[in-house]
Amino acid sequence: MSGNSKVSVIGGGMSGICAAILLSRAGYNVTIYERQERIGKKILLTGNGRCNISNQDIDASWYVSSDDKKLARILNNLSLKERDAFYDSIGLCVTDIRGGLYPVSRQASSVIDALRFALSEANVKIVTGAKAVALHKDLSIEFEDKSVWADKGAAAVIIACGGKAGVYSEEKENGIRLIKDMGHHISDTYPALTYLRCEEDLRSVAGVRCDAALTLNTAKGSFSERGELQINKDALSGIPVFQLSRYAHDLSGCSLEADFLCFMNDALPKYKARAASYPDRSLEDFFAGWLNKKLAQYLIKRAGMRPSDTVRRSSMQRLYETLRHCSFKPAGRGSFREAQLMCGGIPLSEVDDDLQSLLYKNVYATGEILDVNGACGGYNLHFALCSAYTVSNAIINKGAGS
Ligand SMILES: Cc1cc2nc3c(=O)[nH]c(=O)nc-3n(C[C@H](O)[C@H](O)[C@H](O)COP(=O)(O)OP(=O)(O)OC[C@H]3O[C@@H](n4cnc5c(N)ncnc54)[C@H](O)[C@@H]3O)c2cc1C
Repeated sequence: MSGNSKVSVIGGGMSGICAAILLSRAGYNVTIYERQERIGKKILLTGNGRCNISNQDIDASWYVSSDDKKLARILNNLSLKERDAFYDSIGLCVTDIRGGLYPVSRQASSVIDALRFALSEANVKIVTGAKAVALHKDLSIEFEDKSVWADKGAAAVIIACGGKAGVYSEEKENGIRLIKDMGHHISDTYPALTYLRCEEDLRSVAGVRCDAALTLNTAKGSFSERGELQINKDALSGIPVFQLSRYAHDLSGCSLEADFLCFMNDALPKYKARAASYPDRSLEDFFAGWLNKKLAQYLIKRAGMRPSDTVRRSSMQRLYETLRHCSFKPAGRGSFREAQLMCGGIPLSEVDDDLQSLLYKNVYATGEILDVNGACGGYNLHFALCSAYTVSNAIINKGAGS
């Protein structure tokens, strides 16, 4: 470490906390400024209270960003071995559950506890109730509450303001004004890893869960996911919809197509053979053993037929097309409070490979405030740690303020 050792971190979420621990351990004098009354609040919500902290399969394909090559370089800064060593170093034992990494305690609260102890043992200073409202070129920070002393003289500042998802109502902003005032752009923010409300009336199928292959068609291309679809009275939900919601920036240009026969290979010959075997069954009975009854009735009606119609007298080709390409029109999505992720943020084009701002020297950004949107499965908490690792290594290697 050379010269000034003071580092200020704006935001006490996963990424800010990890950066603070890493820098403090390297001898830096680190202060976290957190707008809420406690740090790490969002971590408690993660993984349904179990905190899916990372994944064994990490690469850029699990993320949506504007620069996949730069993202791949950043992800390479933290090997899985280094990740495991970090969690080990804070006394957190993690376990692999079908590729996802969780604390062995299966409790998000134990992750926060481990992080808090590590912060305290590394002598990180934490100032809560401190909402940063401006960051100046001399790296001084102003706070909304003027009783919080303006922070001056830091050699480096880390912007770790995170996303609005989970915690904030729509109108609350999380440091975005501060970042825009610095001259940075913020690519459009919207809630993701959430359900998509649809124009179709889904009341008759509400509560149905089924295997489905989904394709979201957008102006920027088509994206596919397969998994358990959950149907609500006016929305489609479940992991595949959550994953696709990251691509649904402009809903007006989107359509969502579901394939309900994805559970079998060679569906068409099997479907034809079944139709030939049961010509006198009603359409509703034809699907017994293949589809949820309510879903079958819904799809038959979507194809313009009646459940009581017989196979023999129906256009089975038309029905087949509906089953394989059932189209829904997304008309809305979950709010930030309901979502797990804020898409958008500081574009990777406005930071270097160390995540240092291209506009403000010695100002860095970590975590969800960057326009890097991970899939469900531990990818966002992984990016929070990886970005913290990237930034702290850059500061340590270059020396803060140099
Ligand atoms: C319900 C839910 C479940 C999730 N489950 C998972 C999961 O299982 N696995 C996974 O990988 N990801 C999950 N995520 C996503 C993951 O939690 C986040 O991507 C990650 O926590 C982001 O960390 P961060 O430090 O970048 O930001 P945040 O956790 O958002 O922290 C930012 C902090 O900065 C503070 N702050 C903001 N603005 C200011 C300001 N101006 N001044 C001072 N402080 C400020 C905020 O109060 C906050 O404490 C989930 C999210 C939610 C909402």
